[in-house]
Amino acid sequence: MSMTVETATLPTLLTALRLPTVARLWPEFCTRADKEGWPAERLLAALCELELSEREQRRIQRHLAAARLPQGKTLDAFDFLAVPTLSQARVRALVEGDSWLQAGHNLLAFGPPGSGKTHLAGAIGYELIQRGYRVLMARTSDLVQRLQVARQDLALTQEIAKLDKFDLLILDDLSYVRKDQAETSALFELISARYERRSIMITANQPFSGWDAIFPDRAMTIAAIDRLVHHATIFEMNVESYRRRAAYAAATSLSDIEDDRDKQQPEKETATAKDNSRPATLSSDIET
Ligand code: ADP
Ligand code: MG
Repeated sequence: MSMTVETATLPTLLTALRLPTVARLWPEFCTRADKEGWPAERLLAALCELELSEREQRRIQRHLAAARLPQGKTLDAFDFLAVPTLSQARVRALVEGDSWLQAGHNLLAFGPPGSGKTHLAGAIGYELIQRGYRVLMARTSDLVQRLQVARQDLALTQEIAKLDKFDLLILDDLSYVRKDQAETSALFELISARYERRSIMITANQPFSGWDAIFPDRAMTIAAIDRLVHHATIFEMNVESYRRRAAYAAATSLSDIEDDRDKQQPEKETATAKDNSRPATLSSDIET
């Protein structure tokens, strides 16, 4: 593309207009348009469309970076068979977003350590961001600390308001927060402020019974639970630790191989023994 006096300023103009895609692609596209005799409006539309779609991609990338989700924890990588109480269809429907997020409904995931709560929460966050929603995931204790600092600066309300831009706030590991009068009442204020307006997802080891240890007093615990569950989907993930199960399965299959080698069974019998052992390593009641 040859530069004329008029086109010489084009890169500067496009940068000033914040159109990086057009700025990158116009020389190539203009050359093609000239060669193939495109009407001017076709060229303009093609460049605008690409700018818009790349802008959307850049936005999603920014939102993903800001969300602080755990790396690589997607729904596709989540083994739903390992958590029989969790409906894949339900989760897939929820990540389509919309009505529950508009209404500020909540998600609560309960299960022992290693049951997949953080993975599930991160995956839900990831899917929602792909659909244009904004998500922030934080360890509850970190967020509580941040709110506490804001409170000391007399800026708690503003700090909570800043979190309004997130359609979903994921508070991971609520059970690890410990009572400290000032701190956890900030958490209560956050929950109250988002009630019926902005969604919260909470992960915790225990469903409610241990929550007296989190909030300053019983009344506040009850009030917090009340607000959280009023409109909520609850995921009970009462399964054996996935990590431990994976380690156990690996150890078992290794010992199978060693057993087979030691016993030097005929090939047919070996296959039968292996087949029998395999479902046991995958079932949820190992180690019982
Ligand atoms: P929790 O937050 O409940 O303690 P995590 O989500 O951190 O558990 O899970 C522990 C590890 O096991 C992570 O690496 C996670 O990706 C993996 N994991 C747990 N459950 C599943 C599952 N159902 N499918 C695939 N990976 C899982
Ligand atoms: Mg976790």
